[in-house]
Amino acid sequence: MSYVNMEAILENARKNHYAIGAFNIVNYLTAKAAVEAAEELGQSIILQTSVKTVKAFGINEMMGFLKPIVDQAKVNVALHLDHSTDVAFTKACIDGGWSSVMYDGSQLPLEDNIRNTKEIVAYAKPKNVTVEGELGAIVGVEDDIFVKEGDKAHAKPEDCRVYLEKTGIDAFAPAIGTAHGVYKGEIIIDYDLFDEINQFSSCPLVLHGGTGLSDAMFHQLIALGASKVNISTAIKIAYCQGMAIFTQMHPDQNDPLKLDAFTKEEVKKVVTNHIRFFSLMD
Ligand SMILES: [Zn+2]
Repeated sequence: MSYVNMEAILENARKNHYAIGAFNIVNYLTAKAAVEAAEELGQSIILQTSVKTVKAFGINEMMGFLKPIVDQAKVNVALHLDHSTDVAFTKACIDGGWSSVMYDGSQLPLEDNIRNTKEIVAYAKPKNVTVEGELGAIVGVEDDIFVKEGDKAHAKPEDCRVYLEKTGIDAFAPAIGTAHGVYKGEIIIDYDLFDEINQFSSCPLVLHGGTGLSDAMFHQLIALGASKVNISTAIKIAYCQGMAIFTQMHPDQNDPLKLDAFTKEEVKKVVTNHIRFFSLMD
């Protein structure tokens, strides 16, 4: 198969009422684990990188180890930049080989968000790179982006119409009550708002803050049209816990390859479970 942008895989998911998992990978091991899980299930996958992760490696270094993984994959893989609030950095990742980017101007006034998102779309389109945008505030912590609970703002339908029409984005993340990180307290999702936006949205909708939602919540949101579901925290937990479990089980084991192999399987299990669930394979 091939290295693709998000357009075809998300349109297909939207048309057939399932969702594609978008997994935040942090290094070679997590990327390889996620792609292997997708290959075993024969499903397309989106690998996402946070800005913080890309900066930790450097754009070229990170693409250097990701490109062979996506090029050799037996399923369609998109490589997506998650939550970039920086126009220049977003363009640098487009130049660096990412097939898709999210420009997150959700903390800006609507007009500024539209202007910056349009600029990214104009830059990305000729390079066949897809663009995701966001409106409203998805609360919680996503690496360096903090949105406090008190600032919670669901996307407003009238703003969404204007934003979608003026920007021409390929995927849209409206804030509907989900949160990044580990949920504290009750999760209140505005399903009616999500449904309403999906009815008029020209492009597939994205669900952020997937870790911690119940199966019923996922099912309902996918039934209402969520075509891309972001999973970040669950991957981080599987990775760190995997290492902790291995070292507890084998305190005298000093072979890093064995530690990596065990940790990779733990990450792979989490990705597999989510893809099966989002693809309605169970
Ligand atoms: Zn997010």
